[in-house]
Amino acid sequence: MRIGVPTETKPHEYRVACTPGGVHALVAAGHEVLVQAGAGAGSAMLDDEYAAAGATIVADGAEVWERADLVCKVKEPTADEQPLMGEGQLLFTYLHAAADLTLTRALLDRGVTSLAYETVTGPHGGLPLLAPMSEIAGRLAAQVGAVELMRSRGGRGILMGGVPGTPPAKVVVLGGGTVGRNAAQIALGMRADVTVVDISPETLRAIDTETNGHVRTAASNAWEIEPLLLEADLVVGAVLVPGARTPHLVSDELVARMREGSVLVDVAIDQGGCFEVSRPTTHDDPVYQVHGSRVYAVANMPGAVPVTSTRALTNATLPYLLELAAGGGDLIADGLPPRQAALRAGLRAGLTTRDGLLWHAG
Ligand code: NAD
Repeated sequence: MRIGVPTETKPHEYRVACTPGGVHALVAAGHEVLVQAGAGAGSAMLDDEYAAAGATIVADGAEVWERADLVCKVKEPTADEQPLMGEGQLLFTYLHAAADLTLTRALLDRGVTSLAYETVTGPHGGLPLLAPMSEIAGRLAAQVGAVELMRSRGGRGILMGGVPGTPPAKVVVLGGGTVGRNAAQIALGMRADVTVVDISPETLRAIDTETNGHVRTAASNAWEIEPLLLEADLVVGAVLVPGARTPHLVSDELVARMREGSVLVDVAIDQGGCFEVSRPTTHDDPVYQVHGSRVYAVANMPGAVPVTSTRALTNATLPYLLELAAGGGDLIADGLPPRQAALRAGLRAGLTTRDGLLWHAG
């Protein structure tokens, strides 16, 4: 199969869909890979490395789209890319079609077989192609929060871990899923005083066991959250209610009573955010002031660390990409060995459009 990897065209998108290592594996499996010149530059992956891995470097993005049987991307096709999509072409990418009627219509009208990373399932359930970006966003949340707490940035001026004889920063993480646990781990690694709040007792129990009690846990309700927030230096919002808007766990009025210079990092902003005061920001202008607090609410946090994000993305997508290409787009799992059957079943959950029909209810 001929697989195309075009350069991403969304503003500030520095990731690329496949690393040279991924290309090497695809070529070893007998596929031809076309990589647009410069596609990996934003992730510090050079054309020479792709060529050494067996890719054919193609100067023009339109040519990649024209020649590829399967186009592998990071973000959904933009308005400029949509006319390049071909009848029967396979498209494997983060799609978020439910939020984009124009894109969905274009996929249907052009007869594209599209599979969305965000709905592909793993052998034990879960969303394996979304998880690495949550891991990155969580770890980055602690890192960004630590920087924004510095006085020079307008923060409280407290060091996450303090030093002997001084108290550490108090970090509260709302939501103990993938984002929350990763944020808590890094904050704990910086020696902050960390509390994770979740509605699931199993989740709180698991965090307590994983961290040997070094991370405190609290049940999620207004009564428990208020005193934690009033004492917090850094709050990370990491709540997810699948298929629904994130509930506002923190009111404007509560933020008004928080410590001067405290920092709120709302990772859940892509689902509406968990603070009433949150509105989406960009990497160009990531932080704004509300009352005495600073709010960071960038909706695509992993974009800030493309060298890590690109590798993590390929690590997660490659087994599925290899299986998709091996089957030539056939998603029937019957009669295959268990591992292959699981990958095909996972891919089937990602199927969004095919032959002009919509396959995904969401
Ligand atoms: P997850 O499903 O792994 O975890 C969500 C957690 O929230 C679960 O543990 C759940 O029990 C908990 N929760 C649900 N309702 C709650 C409540 N009322 N109070 C406290 N906890 C509650 O999800 P995740 O992968 O960690 O993602 C979290 C959020 O981060 C999502 O909105 C996701 O889209 C977002 N995200 C944003 C970025 C970004 O760049 N901004 C990147 C990755 C993920």
